[in-house]
Amino acid sequence: MRMIEERTQVAEYGRRMSAAGLSTGTSGNISVCDPQLGLMAISPSGMDYDSITPEDVVLMNLEGRIADGQRTPSSEWGLHAAFYRRKPHVRAVVHTHSLYCTLFAVLGRPLEAVHYVIAGAGTSRVLCAPYRLFGTPELADAALEGCGEGDAVLLGNHGLVTCGRDLRSAYSLAQDLEYLAELQYRALCIGQPKILSGGQLAEVAKRFQTYGQPDSQRRGY
Ligand code: 13P
Ligand code: ZN
Repeated sequence: MRMIEERTQVAEYGRRMSAAGLSTGTSGNISVCDPQLGLMAISPSGMDYDSITPEDVVLMNLEGRIADGQRTPSSEWGLHAAFYRRKPHVRAVVHTHSLYCTLFAVLGRPLEAVHYVIAGAGTSRVLCAPYRLFGTPELADAALEGCGEGDAVLLGNHGLVTCGRDLRSAYSLAQDLEYLAELQYRALCIGQPKILSGGQLAEVAKRFQTYGQPDSQRRGY
């Protein structure tokens, strides 16, 4: 099987995303890209995460031609492909409908720097793209524009997209932003959260570069 490692990762992280409650039912999708091959491994559309095997994960090029796999690819394949085309450092994309991120997406409100983990998104504010129909080029365009130079964007009345240099980073950013969104919500229930400044976030971003184990390839959050 081609790209077996990437397909196994997509299947495994899908199970993880579902078990962690970041996506209900068959919502959300995950992909990993190999730029050398010009292919992405993307989750199949509308399948229970528990039942997805590496064989179910579809290989496609960034124009949407299927290179391997029997399943219908995620309806958001165009959004994933657009991120790889426009953000060359990106190797993985995660889309969730996680509750608290979607809560702010329903309000059309950005995630603010109420906690320093937001620095992991490479931005001081995660913007909310306007609502567009799921699975359309219009949604992909709106998402990319809202994401800007950062690694995350809320999709109006829909959910969250994160990206990163590997699936571990993109997934952990989706987890961190769900935590941040819940904090923001809870803080707003009882008061006015204090927002970290650009300077404070720049300090955090610098510190993330040496966070973790020195021998690890995966420093930072
Ligand atoms: P797929 O099951 O086709 O990936 O779609 C789920 C989704 O979240 C659409 O935005
Ligand atoms: Zn969705």
